[in-house]
Amino acid sequence: MHKRKLTELLLIVTMVMFCASLKAQKPERIEPPSWWIGFQEPKVQLLVYGKGISTLKPSITYPGVSLERVILVENPNYLFLDLSISPEAKPGKVEIAFKKGTKTISKGSIDLKEREKGSAQREGFNQSDAIYLIMPDRFANAITGNDAVAGMREGLNRQDPYGRHGGDLEGIRQHLDYVQSLGFTSIWLNPVLENDQPESSYHGYAITDFYQVDPRFGSNEDYKKFVDDCRSRGIKVIMDMVFNHCGSMHWWMNDLPEKDWINVFPEYTPSNYRLSTVADPYAAKADIELTTRGWFATAMPDLNLQNELMKNYMIQNSIWWIEYSGLQGIRMDTYPYPDKHGMADWILRLKKEYPDFSVVGETWITQASKLVYWQKDFPNKDGYNSHLEYLMDFPMADALTRAFNEGEGWDTGLQRLYDVLADDHLYRYPLNMVVFAENHDMGRMAHFYGGDLRKMKMAAAFVATVRGIPQWYYGSELLMEGDGAKSHGAIRQDFPGGWPGDQINAFTKEGRTDSQNEMVNYLSALFQYRKASKVLHEGNTLHFVPLNEVYVYFRYLGDEAVMVMMNNNDSHDRMVDMSRFEEILKNYGSGTEVVTGQKYNLDTITVPAKSALIIELHK
Ligand code: CA
Repeated sequence: MHKRKLTELLLIVTMVMFCASLKAQKPERIEPPSWWIGFQEPKVQLLVYGKGISTLKPSITYPGVSLERVILVENPNYLFLDLSISPEAKPGKVEIAFKKGTKTISKGSIDLKEREKGSAQREGFNQSDAIYLIMPDRFANAITGNDAVAGMREGLNRQDPYGRHGGDLEGIRQHLDYVQSLGFTSIWLNPVLENDQPESSYHGYAITDFYQVDPRFGSNEDYKKFVDDCRSRGIKVIMDMVFNHCGSMHWWMNDLPEKDWINVFPEYTPSNYRLSTVADPYAAKADIELTTRGWFATAMPDLNLQNELMKNYMIQNSIWWIEYSGLQGIRMDTYPYPDKHGMADWILRLKKEYPDFSVVGETWITQASKLVYWQKDFPNKDGYNSHLEYLMDFPMADALTRAFNEGEGWDTGLQRLYDVLADDHLYRYPLNMVVFAENHDMGRMAHFYGGDLRKMKMAAAFVATVRGIPQWYYGSELLMEGDGAKSHGAIRQDFPGGWPGDQINAFTKEGRTDSQNEMVNYLSALFQYRKASKVLHEGNTLHFVPLNEVYVYFRYLGDEAVMVMMNNNDSHDRMVDMSRFEEILKNYGSGTEVVTGQKYNLDTITVPAKSALIIELHK
């Protein structure tokens, strides 16, 4: 290139860059984008992002809103603004002027809103609920137009088990009748926020924008509409949130506010995934650090909740979604991995704003002695109180994967279920366990039960009647198989009939096989019954050690009682002499099986091989 031309070009480039830098001194992002009047905590902290934004001085003149503090951080492209919102403030657009001297260089705003009536008093999920878990990419594709979105890193590939399959919020919304027909009262969706990752973005756990629903699932408005529709039907929506990590393509990863916004190491350092370290009185600091500060996966940078600004960002984000969309619960991912004190602060803040709201933690620990560390009010030696009310019952899930496959022994077969319940002496709130046989990370029930419908029904009967809140994973009513240890893709199948052109529509009776219908009908009878059964919601438990492969337990409350009898023998029916249960049966004269309606007297009862009877007792 000619030398003079090169000089001219450089001059132009410099001028363009100069103009761009002037032009860029404006907020590109202000988060949260809106807030509400009338929270217990009247403050909101705004994250403002824009090139060189910290060289400008923000100012707000809005009645009832004051800018209390401006926080500068290492990165000049960020400002954090503490706003105080008086209960007398009126809804409207709160403008923020960014000034140099007296001259306004740029402006931004947030919307200030009135809270919905009764917002603070909303009821969370509780023992009266039964939760249906859906992976949104894999349930139903109502809108093919959003399957691939221009400018996003991953498109549609339904042939790849780890690809995006096109399911969306509208698809789920259109099948709420189906979910309700099964007797479920609450829906937990795997994360729906933007995951603009180049691969495996379908599962939703690598969030790239905490304030945006992934457009391949729908818009923020669509999510709100989904929650509204559910609420008007009496279905509670549980949002899956992730405080431990974000996606590697999160917008802030190119330009972090502070070096310790995320946990960084000289090179990629995964967590040791040894959750016992956190509660372990003898654990080495280095091990605890690695558990909680190591990354969950290469594509998931670890968020540092010890950074107050980061912690506030996440806490406000969860409140924003609750208030914006009308949620009734949160399932928090990888609960023991982030800073535990930050997590406790989060729960306390939520309970301050929403005293009856519910959070369940994914606490993947299969021993009750270790799991109980994470339940509210447990007298931990180190003084830690998580304040977390609901725990995923992983010890029970672990037992359920084995119990129906084994013969009777000191610690095998149904004795496993008995022993997990026996550990309830540890829990202050045993009714607050969420009970499940599988989720989106585990092998499908039908996989570990070898497709045996009888075992599936026994597991369903147990989950529906044992203390706690039952949770079911979509598709297992169709006996879907899949080995979670081999492939996560394989346990997250498309629901047949959810896609245009599907040959089979399993949302209808006609589209299902006989055994699928048997499972669907059984599940539906069980959970419809449970819906109205206060004794199953709140009742106490009495159980008798398994004998001759028969396990008998009772739920009782006042005069009401339900008796569950399970025969784990593969081929022999068992005639049970009921006098063994005299200490409770003395109060009752007869019973009715809740699925079949069959009447029983209480002298002897024959439990068919590999089956469960659920008998409501009468005087
Ligand atoms: Ca779609």
